[in-house]
Amino acid sequence: MSYISMNLVTMFYLIASVCFIQALKGLSSPSTARTGNAFGMSGMAIATVTTVALIFKLQAQAATTGGLGFSLVLLGVVVGGGIGAFAAKKVEMTKMPELVAAMHSLIGLAAVCIAVAVVAEPWVFQITTPGVALPFGNRLELFIGTFVGAVTFSGSVIAFGKLSGKYKFRLFQGAPVSFPGQHMLNLGIAIALIALGLVFCFAPGVEPAWTPFIIMAVLAFILGVLIIIPIGGADMPVVVSMLNSYSGWAAAGIGFSLNNSMLIIAGSLVGSSGAILSYIMCKAMNRSFFNVILGGFGGDPAAAAAGGAQEQRPVKSGSADDAAFIMSNAETVIIVPGYGLAVARAQHSLKELVEKLTHKGVIVKYAIHPVAGRMPGHMNVLLAEAEVPYDQVFEMEDINGEFGQTDVVLVLGANDVVNPAAKDPKSPIAGMPILEAYKAKSIIVNKRSMASGYAGLDNDLFYQANTMMVFGDAKKVIEAMVKAVD
Ligand code: NDP
Repeated sequence: MSYISMNLVTMFYLIASVCFIQALKGLSSPSTARTGNAFGMSGMAIATVTTVALIFKLQAQAATTGGLGFSLVLLGVVVGGGIGAFAAKKVEMTKMPELVAAMHSLIGLAAVCIAVAVVAEPWVFQITTPGVALPFGNRLELFIGTFVGAVTFSGSVIAFGKLSGKYKFRLFQGAPVSFPGQHMLNLGIAIALIALGLVFCFAPGVEPAWTPFIIMAVLAFILGVLIIIPIGGADMPVVVSMLNSYSGWAAAGIGFSLNNSMLIIAGSLVGSSGAILSYIMCKAMNRSFFNVILGGFGGDPAAAAAGGAQEQRPVKSGSADDAAFIMSNAETVIIVPGYGLAVARAQHSLKELVEKLTHKGVIVKYAIHPVAGRMPGHMNVLLAEAEVPYDQVFEMEDINGEFGQTDVVLVLGANDVVNPAAKDPKSPIAGMPILEAYKAKSIIVNKRSMASGYAGLDNDLFYQANTMMVFGDAKKVIEAMVKAVD
């Protein structure tokens, strides 16, 4: 029986890598995102089939020594693929960030498991032969891969808990958790990790130095928790993309050890694109990139608590009919979609409303804040799903200058992204760029109550003299507006 040759494996891995690069290129614009996704899926299918074929070959070669369990690999593909397909079909758009965090945690855990297996039996992976010690370079790669994987795993579990907001456990709460000496503790752990790394890499003898390796893994798990718990409220999106980057580097590290070009390329692509995205988001939220990478940035809990206190001030409220009347008589309308619109699944009704207003001669634009919703690009995906024309959709920096001359701004289930408190240096969201809806001639805000948004802050916009609140579920309110415009 003939098995796949290593040249063929390299060629297929190269094809898969090109597919991944094309996927990233496609995903950079909503209009090419579908093609990008198709490239990504094809690349992953090629990579998976090639890897299974390669494992089959290794299994056959190692048959006499017991070697790898091929049936276990197939079981993994079926069970893992099944869970992935089920989750992708079932998960709601609004729960996507939790799913992404959960996936990152699995990548981190997989990196740790693979590294432990390689350290234990490197000859099975054809890195050494039995009785020969692991070379220094491999030890270093495995040490770093395990460290990054463990940090990614525990950090992603905490991020998952914080994003889902379902668990009572203190560490899973949205509010930052900090204690005196936290940074010093992180620093102490980092120094200990370097020392353990030296002991592991320079240990004499054939047997791996398990003690420093295991202590490192435990410390890295703890460090992952410590890095994420002080991050709270509005800073979570950066954490998601940062963990995305970490998971890529963990995979790349393991790729070096296994001499697997596919893992190195795909891991580096994920690692670097996640880091670039984190950087862009830090800029969008006016946060320091290095504070994020090193952990421990985020809102001041005391300030968040103070800012979160609800004030009893009068607000002006109206009906969907009133809002429809105002918009029908306006020349220009800007729509600001937020998390609430996604929860209500109101994007299709919204598109209908905009079509009707446009038909009446109103110029309507959508304004997208980079962190509106619960994941990067959430609002773009939502509007793309409803097939909103791309030329009506504007990014924050392109539309912010227009609010001052706009007749009506319709804020739908958005809160933090239009909160003028960001201009106050004492606010927990100080410096976060916002959509300047408060500058418009007239503002209509739809939400269900006066409750705060994700950052837990009251919003002055709702109390402005030119703001009208329309309370109710976004879908029902927009449907009523559509009828009223008719
Ligand atoms: P917010 O969470 O600030 O506000 C959403 C508002 O929607 C709430 O005030 C809520 O008010 C309202 N709402 C909820 N359900 C409905 C409904 N069915 N109908 C109408 N309104 C509804 O969302 P934004 O989009 O303004 O801001 C996003 C926030 O999330 C930012 O703080 C951001 O940093 C953070 N974040 C963003 C991520 C990302 O990557 N984009 C990831 C994680 C967090 P009420 O209950 O009164 O209805």
